Amino acid sequence: MDSILLATSNPHKLVEVTEILSPLGLVVLGLGDVGVTIAEPVEDAPTFEGNARLKACYYAKATDQLCLADDSGLEVDALDGAPGVFSARYSGVTGSREERDQANNLKLVAQLHGVPESGRSARFVCAMCLASPDGAVLAESRGTFEGVIIDEPRGTNGFGYDPHLLIPEIGRTSAQLDPEDKNARSHRGHATRQIANLISDLDKA
Ligand code: IMP
Repeated sequence: MDSILLATSNPHKLVEVTEILSPLGLVVLGLGDVGVTIAEPVEDAPTFEGNARLKACYYAKATDQLCLADDSGLEVDALDGAPGVFSARYSGVTGSREERDQANNLKLVAQLHGVPESGRSARFVCAMCLASPDGAVLAESRGTFEGVIIDEPRGTNGFGYDPHLLIPEIGRTSAQLDPEDKNARSHRGHATRQIANLISDLDKA
């Protein structure tokens, strides 16, 4: 196995996953790199796992190559797990990635108005699925990244809700971590390392 398609057009996800998989000798390509022109699949599964599976199988078959998909989001306990699978489109605002992220963060802070710090536990979740060109699921993994939601954004690294997820034990948000540190701790880092191990096992089989 020497190249793998990551079913994303999010450059941040591509960088985070590449950093972990490239030391295995794998070239990680994004949808933009392989010139995929087909419409995106509708991500209508009720779980991260379901959406990751749906994306991996869809793009593996469409491109006739091994495909890894990530579906991820934020679960806030005080909001009964919202925004969850709707994380990317929580606010309903369309526009650039930055505009959507900003609107999502404003909605998140508004929804948590009046909730004390002790009730603001939350986590990022990442489900990954690796599919073969015939659409069969080869491997799956899940990672989480625990923290609490703060009102004032801190930090400029990363994307999405990163500036609002504070990791209490280190007193920094996900957006204040350098890329290596985020990958060492994050949902996507954990899920990608599990997939990396499963890929090594597949290569040995
Ligand atoms: P997906 O592209 O459908 O998986 O949507 C993921 C959404 O969840 C993103 O648009 C972000 O809003 C949020 N999200 C997922 N992972 C992260 C992360 O590592 N940091 C911040 N936000 C994230």
